[in-house]
Amino acid sequence: MIRCAACGCENRDGAKFCRDCGAPLEVPSAEPSEQITAPQPEQLEATCEDVEPAEVPTVSKEDVEESPALKETVCEEAHDESVSVGEEVETQEGAPQVAVEVESPVQVEAPFTALPEGALLAERRYEVVAIVTESQECNIYEAIGTEDSRKCPQCGYLAPLDENFCAECGASLSEAEQCVGRYYILEVPRGADVWLSKLDGLYQRIADILPRWYEKFEACPYDASERSYVVLEQIDGELLSEVDVSTWSLKRVLETARTLCRLLAGLMDVGFYVPRLVEHAIVIPPEGVIFIGFHAMREYEGEVDTDVLEMVREFTAWLRNAVQPFATETAPSSEAGTAQKLFDELSEREGAIPGIAELSASLDKAMKELEAASVLSFRKAALTDVGRVRELNEDSFMTLEWEAAYESHPVRIGVYL
Ligand SMILES: [Zn+2]
Ligand SMILES: [Zn+2]
Repeated sequence: MIRCAACGCENRDGAKFCRDCGAPLEVPSAEPSEQITAPQPEQLEATCEDVEPAEVPTVSKEDVEESPALKETVCEEAHDESVSVGEEVETQEGAPQVAVEVESPVQVEAPFTALPEGALLAERRYEVVAIVTESQECNIYEAIGTEDSRKCPQCGYLAPLDENFCAECGASLSEAEQCVGRYYILEVPRGADVWLSKLDGLYQRIADILPRWYEKFEACPYDASERSYVVLEQIDGELLSEVDVSTWSLKRVLETARTLCRLLAGLMDVGFYVPRLVEHAIVIPPEGVIFIGFHAMREYEGEVDTDVLEMVREFTAWLRNAVQPFATETAPSSEAGTAQKLFDELSEREGAIPGIAELSASLDKAMKELEAASVLSFRKAALTDVGRVRELNEDSFMTLEWEAAYESHPVRIGVYL
């Protein structure tokens, strides 16, 4: 909880503005990442202190110290087994102690099956309305908030009804429309912490082009299997493969492509790739570009394999097709030149392995060309006999005005003569 310095109201961790008075909150820089990462070593140590050494007979303390992962397992196991160990010793004197099976944790045995529609999660705050995909690694649900919320008119954040100001951008919510919150909920087995920390890494790099991350929680909803959940914003938009790119300007094509380059680099940085990325994983909302293919996301280990290269190649092909119409003679002359050069570069690379950094550089160059003023014109804006700075004893003062093609406002320069 963060206490507001202005009004004393308590706000949730990670909030940027007070929900009651709208004052900016001072957030320690580590706060947001702590909220969405795996348990920290300090937390694990704290849990281990509660455990009597005698209750963990098969694992030496040194083993536990060496491996943080093992440490976590041992702590959980010890808690699960501590009651039965105690009973065993009381009822059967001299009987061997129950060994704790570190190698087969309980959660692996419980089946990881998708929850039914209508399932309630996080103290009944979310209701599952549909299953998007299910697999052994990750289930994805469409869900709604069980209580109405208000949508921030400025940034789209879904806030509970009792909050007066948006916790994300500080905008007043008095005019905000009341609505049912719609979310995607990702569900992974508790053992899949690696998957979650990769996802966390992705959000730390490129959160601005991903659906908003609302919260993460852990639960054991309807059977013995422990599961982790991440609640994400549900985005309305068209799939990139269905968007009619021919209605776009060249600038929009290039800007979108640059965003997608960031996405590809981010995915590959953390060890994810998405087969058939363009076809079913990129959503274009009215503003911006959002990646939403969590159902299609796959992990890759070590070497960059052919699937990853295929993802980059598919993206390059999309860009080449999107740029081609602009390279014709009917396009405005400066645009046609830029588009033609980019198209040629992409065609040359066809068949070769395209690098994201190279692609990014080509796009930056094209963008710069497109934005550069084709003609720089000066004009005389005003002339006076007496300048305003009398101490300079100047004779006359003239302002020159120039306007760059890519900016809508003129810039003035004063000249003393
Ligand atoms: Zn406040
Ligand atoms: Zn907002």
